[in-house]
Amino acid sequence: MSDIREEIEKRRTFAIISHPDAGKTTLTEKFLLYSGTINTAGSVKGKATAKHAVSDWMEIEKQRGISVTSSALQFEYDGCVANLLDTPGHQDFSEDTYRTLMAADSAVMVIDGGKGVEPQTRKLFKVCAMRHIPIFTFINKMDRDALDTFDILDDIEKNLGVATCPVNWPIGSGKNFRGIYDRQLKDVLTYSETLKGTKEGVENRIPVSDRSALSSAIGEEATEKLMGEVELIDGAAESFDLEEVKAGMLTPVFFGSALQNFGVEIFMHEFLKMAPAPEARKSDMGLIDPYSSDFSAFVFKIQANMNKAHRDRIAFMRICSGKFRSDMNVKHVQSGRVARLSQPQQIMADDRKTLDEAYAGDIMGVIDPGIYAIGDTFCMPKDKYQYEGIPTFAPEHFARVRQVDTMKREKFVKGITQIAQEGAIQIFREIGTGMEEIICGVVGVLQFDVLKFRLENEYNVEIILEQLPYEHIRWVKEWNGDVKEIVGTSDMKRIEDLKGNPLLIFVNEWSVGMVLDRNKGLELAEFSR
Ligand code: GDP
Repeated sequence: MSDIREEIEKRRTFAIISHPDAGKTTLTEKFLLYSGTINTAGSVKGKATAKHAVSDWMEIEKQRGISVTSSALQFEYDGCVANLLDTPGHQDFSEDTYRTLMAADSAVMVIDGGKGVEPQTRKLFKVCAMRHIPIFTFINKMDRDALDTFDILDDIEKNLGVATCPVNWPIGSGKNFRGIYDRQLKDVLTYSETLKGTKEGVENRIPVSDRSALSSAIGEEATEKLMGEVELIDGAAESFDLEEVKAGMLTPVFFGSALQNFGVEIFMHEFLKMAPAPEARKSDMGLIDPYSSDFSAFVFKIQANMNKAHRDRIAFMRICSGKFRSDMNVKHVQSGRVARLSQPQQIMADDRKTLDEAYAGDIMGVIDPGIYAIGDTFCMPKDKYQYEGIPTFAPEHFARVRQVDTMKREKFVKGITQIAQEGAIQIFREIGTGMEEIICGVVGVLQFDVLKFRLENEYNVEIILEQLPYEHIRWVKEWNGDVKEIVGTSDMKRIEDLKGNPLLIFVNEWSVGMVLDRNKGLELAEFSR
């Protein structure tokens, strides 16, 4: 048992949240570089020109030169086993991005120092905040002109509603970037253009007590300014409280440049030290302790047709407790089926590795015989609990879907329902109508293309998509009466999901408030459980 404890305690399962172009791919690459997982920069998937090592599973990814799916990378550093969940962030932003955060124990928030908090970061942050997981902030691109440091912190606090605690402090930015001040060690790690591209770790720390050495290294003016700012932050900034960090109420903030390898190692080291190992997870029979319980896991993503020749579906699961061995029988709780998991794999940077064993915190992919769904629980045959489901995230784009050839109705319904079950899209219908016409909702617009492409390629059904102007969706949580009696606004539409739950969709966000005002006793929710 003790080796299980030791292994689980080493696990750090996290995701990186950021707005496109803030530097997530560059930072990931540096993590892998420092941990010795890769030898050269440029091997992590990312831009159209980069090698699509991780996830060019679907044909559409090759055509578009982007990655539609997400997976996890494992690397070791500082005695920790890090499981980095890949959260798609460009046009391929989708519900999967949100769901992946359900499998993370902490998050790294990368912010472009020149831009501050951007919309996508805000959306992803909201999901992390809902789960109360710790968030560690890396302010990137300090080698470029950045906003005033106090303004950046203020922006995070006001925009995201989380307190900040700078762990280090930048000295200038852009052409005047001189380094970072370590608030704990009270010394300065100097930055120089000559270190460009080299690995960190060069001894260039100067204690602030050695004023003359400091001022000759970074200049008198920068030294003066730094001393003034240090006095200010020591007096005004939140004091560091690890418990608040763990509760997601305080975010430790670090500065650096992922591209120039500056501040990254310090960040990695401190982040892995503070980030939590797997903790107990809620089930319908109470909390399940990762250490004292046997194997259990839940499915957070299902990916279809990764291998065209086999037409297989891969279910990605996050192990929540105990140790997994590939030769053991486990129970799929929702179907009651007990069996060995089919071809458990870890998806690595450029290959799939068969897994013989894995521990709480690890992510694995298994072949789905067609009965697994997002949120499903796996545990030992003797156990009888199931984990809390994954919320359905509000789609932000809607389209009416029609089939071109109405003779293929059955195929159309089958195809669209299966794709919806995988969770790539959500489907709705106007209240009281059948399946002839479906309203499809997605988190990222690219999912519309994926839907069209997959229906044509996998089900041989051609569709017409007509985008609708709605952007805001609310589930009707509480209403005494018929949904038709809700007094609406001109930009509102009543729909229902496949389970028959009524919803309202709106073009304008302010209409949501108006409808609430007009209907006493009406309660609306942004997520559906
Ligand atoms: P992602 O979209 O968040 O994954 O961002 P990338 O890592 O692909 O970075 C976007 C662009 O910003 C690329 O051209 C990077 O080379 C550049 N970049 C990333 N980090 C830094 C940095 O620290 N400094 C500078 N100057 N550029 C950076």
